[in-house]
Amino acid sequence: MFDKRMLILSAIISLAGVMAGCGDKQPVPVALPTTEAVQSASPVATVAQTTAAPPVVQAAPTITPVPTTAPTPVATPETKPTPTKTAAPTTLPSVPKSNKLVMIDPGHQKVGNNAPEQVGPDTRETKPKVSSGTVGVKTKKPEYVLNLEVSVLLKAELARRGIKVAMTRETHDVDISNKQRADMANEAGAALVVRIHADGDASASTKGFSVLYPSAAQPAVKPIAAESKQAAVFLLAGMQQATGQKGRGLSARDDLSGFNWSKVPVALVEIGFMTNPEEDELMSDAAYQKKLATGIADGIEQFVNGK
Ligand SMILES: [Zn+2]
Repeated sequence: MFDKRMLILSAIISLAGVMAGCGDKQPVPVALPTTEAVQSASPVATVAQTTAAPPVVQAAPTITPVPTTAPTPVATPETKPTPTKTAAPTTLPSVPKSNKLVMIDPGHQKVGNNAPEQVGPDTRETKPKVSSGTVGVKTKKPEYVLNLEVSVLLKAELARRGIKVAMTRETHDVDISNKQRADMANEAGAALVVRIHADGDASASTKGFSVLYPSAAQPAVKPIAAESKQAAVFLLAGMQQATGQKGRGLSARDDLSGFNWSKVPVALVEIGFMTNPEEDELMSDAAYQKKLATGIADGIEQFVNGK
C-alpha cells in the first residue's frame, strides 16, 4: 500500500520534473545543425524509468575519495629542546587544499531521452530530458564520448591537486536527465558543478571554446548567479592561459535545465566546435585535451580556494 503510493508519488515527481538543458547551444543564437531535438528517445526506456524506478530516482554520484594522507600529528621531539627554539617541521604533510566537493557533469549520454522535462522551477516550458549531443564532423566521434574523455582527465587532475571530485556519469550507457544531474549536485552539496560539453554550429568555420553560466533572469538561480559567473570567469581565464587561445568568451543562459534546477554554483564549458574540422580533430588530440583539463582545473581550483 505504502510502496504503491510512494511509487505513484515518485512517478508524478519525475513527470513534473521534466527538463533538459543541453549545453550544445552556443553563445550566439545559431540554430543547431544536429541531434539536439532530433534524437528519439526509446519509449521502452521512458517507461522503464517511470515505472521501475525506486522512490529515489537518481544514481548516487560516484565520489572519488581524496587520498587521505592523514595529517599525522606532529611528533613532539623526544628530547625537549629549549622552550625558546622549537624546530619547525620541514616537510608538512600534504593535505587537501579544500574539502569542498566539485561535481563534473560530462554532457549527454549514449542514447538520448526525449521525454519532456520542465526547463526550470520558474517556467512551464519543457525540453527533452537529455540528448546524445552533437558529433565530430571529421572524427565522427559522438559528443558524449569526447565530453567523458575530457571529464576523466579533469577528474584525475583535480584529484591530483587534492580536490574532492564526483562525476554524474562515468560510462555512456546511462539515462540521467539534465534536471537529475542538477539534483545530484544539489544533494551532494557540491561547491561547484562544471558541465563539460562540445559545441555544434551550422557553419563549419565557427570555432573556439566558451563558458556558459546561469542567467539571473530566472528567479530560481538568483542565489547562485553571482558565484556561478565568477566561476565561469575563472574557467575561461584558465582555458585561455592553458591553450593560448582567446576563445569566444562568456555567455549567460536562462534556457538550460541543468542550470535552472541547480541550487549550487554551476558553469558549462563548451570546449570547442565539433562542426569545425580542425577543432574537431584538435579536441581529440591527447596533448590538447590535457591542456584543456589543466586550464579547467586551474579555474576550478581558483574558485574553490576563494570560497
Ligand atoms: Zn552538449
